[in-house]
Amino acid sequence: MAIDIESIRNQFPILHQDVNGMPLIYFDNAATTQKPQRVIDALVKYYSLDNANIHRAAHTLASRSTTYFENTRKAIQTFINAAESEECIFTKGVTESINLVAQTWGRTFLKQGDEVLITTMEHHSNIVPWQLVCEATGAILKVIPITDSGELVMSDFDALLSERTKMVACVWVSNALGTINPVKELIAKAHAVGAKVLLDGAQACSHLEIDVQELDCDFLTISSHKLYGPTGVGVLYGKRQLLEAMPPYQGGGEMIKEVRFEKSTYNDIPYKFEAGTPNIADVIAFGEALAFINGIGKTVIAAHESNLLQYLLEGIGHVNESNNNMISLVGTAAAKISVQSFVVKGMHSFDVGMMLDAKGIAVRTGHHCTQPLMNRFGLEGTVRVSLSVYNTTAEIDVFLEHIGKLVKRSAGK
Ligand code: PMP
Repeated sequence: MAIDIESIRNQFPILHQDVNGMPLIYFDNAATTQKPQRVIDALVKYYSLDNANIHRAAHTLASRSTTYFENTRKAIQTFINAAESEECIFTKGVTESINLVAQTWGRTFLKQGDEVLITTMEHHSNIVPWQLVCEATGAILKVIPITDSGELVMSDFDALLSERTKMVACVWVSNALGTINPVKELIAKAHAVGAKVLLDGAQACSHLEIDVQELDCDFLTISSHKLYGPTGVGVLYGKRQLLEAMPPYQGGGEMIKEVRFEKSTYNDIPYKFEAGTPNIADVIAFGEALAFINGIGKTVIAAHESNLLQYLLEGIGHVNESNNNMISLVGTAAAKISVQSFVVKGMHSFDVGMMLDAKGIAVRTGHHCTQPLMNRFGLEGTVRVSLSVYNTTAEIDVFLEHIGKLVKRSAGK
């Protein structure tokens, strides 16, 4: 099915504005995606008509908001093909989901000398939580290296993997490089030595089909704000057996069965991990975001984004041909999503970003919360273009025109 880009763009009010006197070109989708009108409307509707605290209460608004809230859980279950909706826990986002696993599963099951494997291309949120739990338990953090093109060195992974490995925590798709990691192979190999696998799905979730049962991952973390939904909502998927074996993350209302001063007992999953009043409105609006994606279809979205990436790369190639290869691409893996990092020789990434911003083009600059990855490439940071369902080749043309001028000016210095 061909994508109807105009009708998609018309659903995003934010895109139809000028920034610094120029039509906005939003190329910062890996940081957060924009929200369609139906998501914005869902928030307004909830607070206008449905607002009530969920679960337990005997009145109509509470039962309505509970139903809508739990409907999103079912939508998530379908979206990732979990065996049961109870395996989907609402969190604040990927960062909280990973911390939850590190602090509960990690503190319970890791001991002195055990090993946790991560990769060089992890986001800080899949590094620091493991460092914290390793410090607390005496477990050891080990890192799978990557090649110059930004792919995992699988032979090194094989060599690092052993009976001591208890957890492989790996980004499915790199936010800085766009690399799609061979997670199915990683999972099978990790399981063969008895290790669990957590996938950071922050970037994968909006671009790739997700089937947690087919993948057989133990944990998957995703975030609403990368999926055209509100900020402050994410999901931790975990296999039932693992979630049941883990202690609660936070104590409070909702996560208990019975509270006594001597000892409390805990609720069943998912509620055991959902202490306190959750982010009800945003969870409900997240359901609308999933409906938006399902309405277009992941394969249609992926095909469009892959065309955009191809178009961008050809365009950068042309700019480079006439400008002495002034643009160096960072992240050239064979399997990639529509994210491209680069540096312009002789120019600071931040300056490139500011100059593009003056033309209404929003890109991200800096280390992208992947400092160890930047160190691997000997860089302080990059400029990152990340493309999404509502971006167009016409927008890429404008970007190429301005980056071409910039590069020419820099070359002439
Ligand atoms: N991991 C990756 C790969 C990401 O891109 C991000 C968001 N930039 C995160 C983790 C953190 O996600 P969240 O914003 O949901 O906490």
